[in-house]
Amino acid sequence: MKCHQCPTPAFYRIEHFGQDVPICLDCYTKLRSLNHVEFLMNAAMLNQAQDDMDAMMPFGSSGGRIPIGEIARAMKKPSHVYNNIKVSNSQVGVLNTGDLAKIDAVITISTGSDIGPIGDQLKALTQAVVDCGEMNDVVKRDMIDLINVLATQIVSAKSERKPSVITSLYKTIEDRAKGFAAISTVANALGAEIGRLFG
Ligand SMILES: [Zn+2]
Repeated sequence: MKCHQCPTPAFYRIEHFGQDVPICLDCYTKLRSLNHVEFLMNAAMLNQAQDDMDAMMPFGSSGGRIPIGEIARAMKKPSHVYNNIKVSNSQVGVLNTGDLAKIDAVITISTGSDIGPIGDQLKALTQAVVDCGEMNDVVKRDMIDLINVLATQIVSAKSERKPSVITSLYKTIEDRAKGFAAISTVANALGAEIGRLFG
């Protein structure tokens, strides 16, 4: 089966305008990076909205903007070079490197801040999932995806943080970690930190 966009054999199947479309690895990579740019644009708009709000309110700056620059820099690095997470070459094909880059950026940003302890636990949990030999690739990708969404919530502006969303994301992660002793242990430690900060 050929790629929908070019003559290369297809590797992925994506949904596009409600249709299943075959797409090659190269085109998929381009699509992913478009998605990342979109994420940054949304984050920029969110920050802008908060700035506008601050300008109207007599309370001064509300702080806690999404650090777009940091995230963009982390995503620009060679596909699997991270500051905090170690990923071997054989694991790169299995995992979503864009998600890992975002988690990595969140860990970096959290260092030395009020959410530093959570950053440490996010790092431990992500590494445990990456290193887990028993978890199958689909579940692994799913876990990384969940950790990414959770990390993004945690690092977002205080006014945008939803403790209920953070808690339910954590519960889902905790659930999927069951049966994987190494992951469960670090997931519980993350849960304790979340409870302390957002509970
Ligand atoms: Zn293609």
